[in-house]
Amino acid sequence: MFAERVLLDAQGWPRDIAAMAQLDLRLIPVTPFQQNCSLLWDTKSMEGVLVDPGGESEKLMGAAEELGVKIKEIWLTHGHLDHAGGAEDIRAKLGIPVIGPHKDDQFWMDTIEQAWSQYGHAGMGKNIVPDRYLEDGETLELGGVKFGVVHTPGHTPGHVVIYNQDMKIAFVGDVLFRGSVGRTDFPKSNPQDLIDSIRNKLWPLGGDMRFVPGHGPMSTFGAERADNPFVGDRVIGTVGGNSSGVM
Ligand SMILES: [Zn+2]
Ligand SMILES: [Zn+2]
Repeated sequence: MFAERVLLDAQGWPRDIAAMAQLDLRLIPVTPFQQNCSLLWDTKSMEGVLVDPGGESEKLMGAAEELGVKIKEIWLTHGHLDHAGGAEDIRAKLGIPVIGPHKDDQFWMDTIEQAWSQYGHAGMGKNIVPDRYLEDGETLELGGVKFGVVHTPGHTPGHVVIYNQDMKIAFVGDVLFRGSVGRTDFPKSNPQDLIDSIRNKLWPLGGDMRFVPGHGPMSTFGAERADNPFVGDRVIGTVGGNSSGVM
């Protein structure tokens, strides 16, 4: 939450992803923080998932209905109010499970209502206890397509990233942004953990991996390694190597 950038292209961008698989994707920004909720669906069965429905649950369910998508699960990257706040409403209405994040983010999900009130938007979201927490190395599934899960603490201790290697798409929440990284000035945030998560869990997924960040435009891991001022290779060195000049 609280990224400076706002979404540049909510509707048009991800069309080429659809050509690579039977899944389609629509980004729907929600809440005053313009959080990128993803509606991801299987074009054959028309079953879908919502990744990070942070709020405006009616808008999200309406978008799914308009597209003819039956939402079967909710996936959460982390417990912040703008990512998890709409999950309880949608679960109650549709009777579907909420999966993720890692259990270490439960303390955030216990204070969503209080946090929205503090930011002057009382009622924007609800506290949530997921049906299932995620651990590093687990898999999720949509339309027969498997998604991997990596635990990526730093911004929050229980943050996870969900990705698919064939489609080259990762949902990274607030770990990484185009030209920036997630904030680490919250309780239980850890700047070194964030850098380690990006370097050791995200970069190995490949430079051509595209990602949907929690806020702002999409990018690829390769582009961020090239010029991200916080975690680019020039800043932190290449993975597994060193920059001291010693062979
Ligand atoms: Zn956020
Ligand atoms: Zn966040």
